[in-house]
Amino acid sequence: MSAPGSDTSRPPVPVADCATCAELAECRELARAVFDRSAETDTNVLMRQHQRQAHESQAHPGRTRRTFRYVPFTIVQDATAEPEYATRCVSGDEAECGAESGVRGHPADVEEWQRRHTQETRHARYRRTFADYAVMEPLGGFEAGLTVGLEPARVARVRTS
Ligand SMILES: [Zn+2]
Ligand SMILES: [Zn+2]
Repeated sequence: MSAPGSDTSRPPVPVADCATCAELAECRELARAVFDRSAETDTNVLMRQHQRQAHESQAHPGRTRRTFRYVPFTIVQDATAEPEYATRCVSGDEAECGAESGVRGHPADVEEWQRRHTQETRHARYRRTFADYAVMEPLGGFEAGLTVGLEPARVARVRTS
């Protein structure tokens, strides 16, 4: 697993109240709707580029103040990214074995790896990990949420991030 920010396989999430993010997210939704994977990838690249330029500074505390409007979101699993399964052998008295299956696309592959490793080594204890990608979607669909998000906030919580 790579550090946050350096992961380019994860689709970027639009920043609330940003018109550019909203526009790109809408493009991506359209691309997804027609299963245009390359258009979807292009949009992700553009959004990542834009977010690096426009939103990166918000990671520095005290530099920027961001107002945001409350939009109810649902959290859904990102169907465009495969869930990841992995396991590591933690057998051993003093130092653990540490053998790893690597990232697999299915839990059965991980089990198969464990079975083989146990057969070879008699090691019996494993640490299994699972990761997936989640997307925040405005309640009432993307259209509704984005329209709300595009309006400038009048009364908003002020958050220093
Ligand atoms: Zn943005
Ligand atoms: Zn082992």
